[in-house]
Amino acid sequence: MSGQQRQRVPPGAETPGRVGDVRRGNLARVLTAIARWTSEQSPTRAQLATLTGLTKASVSSLVTELIEQGLVVEIGQHRDGERGRPGVGLGLDPSRCVLGMEVNVDYVSAGLVNLSGQPINHAVLPRDNRSSRPEEVTGALGELITEYRNFATNQGLTILGGALAIPGLVDSRNSLVLHAPNLGWDGIRLGLAGLLPDTLLGVSLFNEANASAVAYRQSVPQAPATFLFVSGEVGIGGAVVIDSELFTGPHGAAGEIGHVIVQPGGSPCSCGAHGCLETMAGQDAIYRASGVLAPVRNPGQPVTTDPEPRETIALLHAALVAGEPQALDAVDRAGYYLGAAVASSARLLDVHTVVLGGHFAALGQWIVPALHRSAADHGPASGWPLRIILSPLGATAALVGAAQSVVRDLLEHPPVATQR
Ligand SMILES: [Zn+2]
Repeated sequence: MSGQQRQRVPPGAETPGRVGDVRRGNLARVLTAIARWTSEQSPTRAQLATLTGLTKASVSSLVTELIEQGLVVEIGQHRDGERGRPGVGLGLDPSRCVLGMEVNVDYVSAGLVNLSGQPINHAVLPRDNRSSRPEEVTGALGELITEYRNFATNQGLTILGGALAIPGLVDSRNSLVLHAPNLGWDGIRLGLAGLLPDTLLGVSLFNEANASAVAYRQSVPQAPATFLFVSGEVGIGGAVVIDSELFTGPHGAAGEIGHVIVQPGGSPCSCGAHGCLETMAGQDAIYRASGVLAPVRNPGQPVTTDPEPRETIALLHAALVAGEPQALDAVDRAGYYLGAAVASSARLLDVHTVVLGGHFAALGQWIVPALHRSAADHGPASGWPLRIILSPLGATAALVGAAQSVVRDLLEHPPVATQR
């Protein structure tokens, strides 16, 4: 035993000016400098000192602590240009990872992400979670977690913690699902600590669209710094990213474009309002209008009926490729309402780049032209052209983005060794 204990301090809990806080801040400076190092060769301690403005002695001490914590490893020797002496390269420990997870209306999924934010693997388990009991869903998630814990053990990986994305409004600090209308969950505490016991970080909770937007920003090299992310699932999620940072609003609910009213007095929405965008352009609304057989849902049970949700999108896709008028009209109609909501949002936020994820990305070829026409009709004099981008990340975006958020928090707030 080292006589030390690792202590993780929640963001915002630091008291400025304390010696431990200065060291914590310096640990974060070194760690993020290693994480952001972009050249092929990993940085040496001397290069990190130059980069951070810290003394070489300080950097050496900080690196030693980060190695002891298992966050950083030495990666061979190379010449760092300082008097020709070889330096030891440093990198994030590739054996440390975070388990990203998502519960959505028609599936649960999980996958590992390393400290560089790179996905290692993932699995999606189709399951009808509408109006299901939370403990049943977390039970299904538990099966995936067991698989990934076994995988990690066999591969010599260490899972530091987890991140769970939910299609709804969440209170991350209190691990509370405030309102997830398509799951039928209100004020639900999920018992996250029990999902990944005995891990350094535990499990954190995220909104699905916010997590997907983070994944897009971090994983796609040409991603814009400012954009509106619109995620099409059974529900429609939204997120606002401004200057590369999520804008979540004081209650974490900013960007909820799915519940913008596009047809006052229209169809009832799961949120309790009428005529929300979700009722006109959500996945099931498109299926119904297209005449494609929608999946039969048995709340709380695995989706075993034919077709499964992921097959349904393939059926719709095939109908669109074949030029079936009803399918084309259904997607056109969804694009019309999406365009109305996007045009209003672009004006409200002065954000003119929209990234489409989920089924909107899968239907991009057909829905984007309708969206553009509608946005032009609803915002003809906005002054800036609307730019529509399709996210290439697919169904794993939320679990990857949630895990990347946990990794980022870890790098910016590394644990500190404190004397007992
Ligand atoms: Zn609604």
